[in-house]
Amino acid sequence: MNAVTSPQRLVPAWQTALTEAFTRPAELLEFLRLPASLPALRLAEMRDFPLRVPRGFAERMAKGNPRDPLFLQIWPSPREAEPHRDFVVDAVGDLSKLKAGGIIHKYHGRALVIATGACAVNCRYCFRRHFPYGETRASRNHWRAMLAELAADETIEEVILSGGDPLSLTDDKLAELAQGLDEIPHLKRLRLHTRQPIVLPERVNDDLLDWLTATRLKPIVVLHANHANELDKAVGLATARLRAAGIPLLNQSVLLAGVNDTLDELKSLSERLFEVGVLPYYLHLLDRVQGSAHFEVDEAVGKALVRELAGHLPGYLVPRLVREIAGKPAKTWIAW
Ligand SMILES: *Cc1c(COP(=O)(O)O)cnc(C)c1O
Ligand code: SF4
Repeated sequence: MNAVTSPQRLVPAWQTALTEAFTRPAELLEFLRLPASLPALRLAEMRDFPLRVPRGFAERMAKGNPRDPLFLQIWPSPREAEPHRDFVVDAVGDLSKLKAGGIIHKYHGRALVIATGACAVNCRYCFRRHFPYGETRASRNHWRAMLAELAADETIEEVILSGGDPLSLTDDKLAELAQGLDEIPHLKRLRLHTRQPIVLPERVNDDLLDWLTATRLKPIVVLHANHANELDKAVGLATARLRAAGIPLLNQSVLLAGVNDTLDELKSLSERLFEVGVLPYYLHLLDRVQGSAHFEVDEAVGKALVRELAGHLPGYLVPRLVREIAGKPAKTWIAW
């Protein structure tokens, strides 16, 4: 036998890209030609939620601009350390709803599974940045319990794989998980909530498309992009592949101060999403999670922006402005 490694054994390109992500602030600043003196959170303060950004995403940032809307989303600002009384660790009440195996069942017919705590990028405004993933996520040795829990509740028609980013798991694992879900008769839909096709478009490979289309469950993918500049050519190719496989694509964004809180930016985002085959779904008001106060946009401002947007775009390009209110049976629609 010759010693050629079979193709299955090669590390997929997306995993290599993950290991090459920027994690050292000084290195990112140098790459972006920003001053090394740019204020940042102290390393000790960001230990639980460090800097992390894939190179391909950093390449979409303007050089030399500390106000770049993509840079602001990932840069650990010293403002994260400022205490704010109303910004807490579990802002959306997820912890009280958590069931065996990493399931959050808050809404009728849909169960959300915390499939992993890992992400390709660390978004500084993330509402799960303090989530105790270690104890709660549906890691593989909990899958049996998780599948049993889902199988026991016939009101559940849709499973949402979330995280973290569910696409941080390997395709082998995801294929196994999808197969397990496929065997639960009352499930109809399989939804992915993922930012990876945006920040790491090489993640959309043949293996992913294979398992996602192999099940009898109807797949749907909800992406997460906040600014038109995130949607470059490589992302367009990734979304085209998903669409060619028959998978409907929606997007959720978070309304973020300094990132996308102008009419022009929201309009370009919707238009660019449509160009790459994605419809805007939700525009979230920020969840009041500790360390994210400097991203908050006032609800009245958000409402006015979405109403203005509706005066400029077809209805299908206007996202619903929503807020997650702990204890409510659905996301609360604020506008449109
Ligand atoms: C947002 C969310 C969902 C999905 O809600 P949709 O309105 O169907 O998009 C499901 N479960 C949880 C816990 C959520 O936060
Ligand atoms: S990709 Fe999603 S879950 Fe991960 S840090 Fe960003 S917002 Fe949070």
